[in-house]
Amino acid sequence: MTQLKNGNSVSRGETVTADVCVIGGGAAGITVARALANSNLHVVLLESGTTTFEAPTQDLYSGTSSGDSYDVNASRLRFLGGSTNHWAGWCRPLDPTDFEARPWVRNSGWPITRRDLDPYYARALPLVDIAVEPFDRDYWLKTRSDARVIPLLENDVMTTAVFRFSQGPVHFGDRFRKDLERAPNVDVYLESNVVNIATTKDAASVTHVDVATLKGNRFKVSAREYVLALGGIENARMLLASQDVRATGVANDHDLVGRYFMDHPEGHVGVLLLSGQAPDNFLGGRIDLLRTVVTFNTKVFEREQMNAIAFVVGTTEPLAVKGKIDSRDVAAVLQAIEGGASIPYELYLRGEPEPNPDSRITLTNKLDALGVPRLDLRWQLGPDDRARYRHAIELLAKQFGSKGVGWVRIEPADFGQPKSDVFYGAHHMGTTRMHADPRKGVVDAQCRAHGMSNLSIAGSSVFPAVGFSNPTLTILALALRIADNVRATLA
Ligand SMILES: Cc1cc2nc3c(=O)[nH]c(=O)nc-3n(C[C@H](O)[C@H](O)[C@H](O)COP(=O)(O)OP(=O)(O)OC[C@H]3O[C@@H](n4cnc5c(N)ncnc54)[C@H](O)[C@@H]3O)c2cc1C
Repeated sequence: MTQLKNGNSVSRGETVTADVCVIGGGAAGITVARALANSNLHVVLLESGTTTFEAPTQDLYSGTSSGDSYDVNASRLRFLGGSTNHWAGWCRPLDPTDFEARPWVRNSGWPITRRDLDPYYARALPLVDIAVEPFDRDYWLKTRSDARVIPLLENDVMTTAVFRFSQGPVHFGDRFRKDLERAPNVDVYLESNVVNIATTKDAASVTHVDVATLKGNRFKVSAREYVLALGGIENARMLLASQDVRATGVANDHDLVGRYFMDHPEGHVGVLLLSGQAPDNFLGGRIDLLRTVVTFNTKVFEREQMNAIAFVVGTTEPLAVKGKIDSRDVAAVLQAIEGGASIPYELYLRGEPEPNPDSRITLTNKLDALGVPRLDLRWQLGPDDRARYRHAIELLAKQFGSKGVGWVRIEPADFGQPKSDVFYGAHHMGTTRMHADPRKGVVDAQCRAHGMSNLSIAGSSVFPAVGFSNPTLTILALALRIADNVRATLA
């Protein structure tokens, strides 16, 4: 068993060599390293933090936000396990349509299909302690007798989508640390911040990465293959900041790195009142490690030209809802309750943002403690997003109203504005997007940086379009696929 190493113990100026250098020890980096464990490849994983939160290390993440309200510091954690140290564990694969080019969602379309990822999703599920069972609602309806559907929500317009939860949820640092320590071919270096990616003069290959510790040590790591896995914001920052050869940074010949930043906006958009008695545990509430959301059928998204959108139905909290009654015009709500409607449910919308090149990360002239430029995030929803979310709420309300099954009071959140009832999933996506054409994407279909021989990028920064599902399961699937590719390349 090899103990985790520490960057402060490496001789100053030394070049550590490896077959594979994994940069970042979060969900993506740990998954790549673990998938290569016990192989004949020597793997070095470089992690900025220790095994616990430390403020000076976390401060290396601080940046500014000049667009829609966003906290770039608090939405991620910088120590072994990364942001899985505080994730909520919601898991769901992207839908097949999320991968397709949808003409009404500008810049959508992956160069791979859901089918390409299916075998990797199956391998990813056990990593988050989820049994390999379908996400299909019909399966769960048959399996769980306590799961019932509001009839109206299952018709030619509406349907139900299933999320499942990582048990725990799994914190990748705690869970997989022993596997990494046991693997004779894997060396994990803590307190080892990559501060620069060095390339050949033609910028076509990575030669080494420069590593710095907060205690003042400096060394290099040189490998045959590199996997960048710093998270969806930091992947872009590191590429932009690595300017030895090109002023635009690494893998950025077409000014794409840092653009198309996306997160999932989520906000309170109304109150749902069901006529008559709502079934206990109706599909819409959480049952153990299963939760369903209300969404539209595929054809409806196309017909109505909408981004992927789902509604999360809150749990029954009559007192909380009553509290809101004072601050809103809810005479109609009260009337509805008196008229026989059952307990109100909160409705949250969770929306896909349209990929927007002007929503972007750039470097500022302020430096962090290790001399790396701090970033600015100008996060902006696409020009049509708000209108589409509003349209979706109205469509949902009509479904209830027209069939007399219930009633929706619309209270749309002002998405993108700094209001307490709008929040984001802390899902950092899109900044090194995948596209077959180097002029339109930073990585190719295999997650390899275009124009570079030995650099892969792991994490949700490669997502060119994002659907409404949380990203981590897809991050894991892609990380396993990257590990397979790296292994095949070096065989
Ligand atoms: C509050 C919260 C709730 C969430 N809930 C969910 C959820 O329910 N479902 C879901 O799917 N997702 C959720 N997420 C998102 C999820 O945490 C991320 O998708 C996931 O952690 C991303 O994995 P990653 O490895 O790409 O990046 P990270 O987890 O961010 O890991 C990056 C790693 O790189 C290290 N690092 C950074 N810079 C350097 C450097 N220069 N040198 C060396 N190492 C460095 C960091 O310390 C970190 O360990 C949530 C996030 C937050 C913040």
